Amino acid sequence: MPPIEDNIRRVQDKIAERLDRLGRAADSVTLIAVTKTHPVEAVEAALRAGIAHIGENKVQEALRKIPLLRVPYEGFHFIGHLQSNKINNLLTLKPLLIQSIDSLYIARELNNSLGRKNLTQDILVQVNTTAETTKSGVSFENAAEMVWQIAALPCLRIRGLMTIGLMSIDPERTRPYFSQLRELGEKIEKQGIPGVKMEYLSMGMSDDYLVALEEGSNMLRLGSALFGAREYGGRQ
Ligand SMILES: *Cc1c(COP(=O)(O)O)cnc(C)c1O
Repeated sequence: MPPIEDNIRRVQDKIAERLDRLGRAADSVTLIAVTKTHPVEAVEAALRAGIAHIGENKVQEALRKIPLLRVPYEGFHFIGHLQSNKINNLLTLKPLLIQSIDSLYIARELNNSLGRKNLTQDILVQVNTTAETTKSGVSFENAAEMVWQIAALPCLRIRGLMTIGLMSIDPERTRPYFSQLRELGEKIEKQGIPGVKMEYLSMGMSDDYLVALEEGSNMLRLGSALFGAREYGGRQ
């Protein structure tokens, strides 16, 4: 079996085993293959091996690759920092979920573009749970307030929260942040904000997805665990 298929099988087994141990249904998690830096052929191999959702973090790269895919997929997820001048290009790719809405400014710009096209868009609000300056995301403290403000924008539908854990060798260090994001989601859900559903908790990457599952994640974004290490600077 080619390596990508092998990796996918192995990761799927680990996820299934952990969900079983947690008493959660096998289909309670959406697995997103993060395809950034990997060529179209690798993405197609993943789709043929049973991956249904793909994620990219740069609009330019997604524009270059997604239209070339000849294997069908269920959903394209945008997971990177979105700049306002890239919004229209991103919308041509019909993202199932834009997971990385990190400011009221970009939410308003996106809402305006959608309004002009008579479209609505499902989004997640990205929370910078670890408060690292190198990361995008609304601060933990301001997240609920921002959800209220975005909820008032008619073309956006908030479907949950997304976060990135600590880039640490020890996933246990990220556990408290995952747990805080789950609690924040529950708190926001209880506020009954019109049009807002805390359906997705997108947390967990290659180094911390098992911990994320234990803390209630139902959407994993995995790159290197499926495709191997990324090489930047070369052909992307
Ligand atoms: C790159 C990336 C991932 C996947 O990272 P891996 O550690 O390779 O699994 C997940 N989420 C976001 C937002 C990313 O940019």
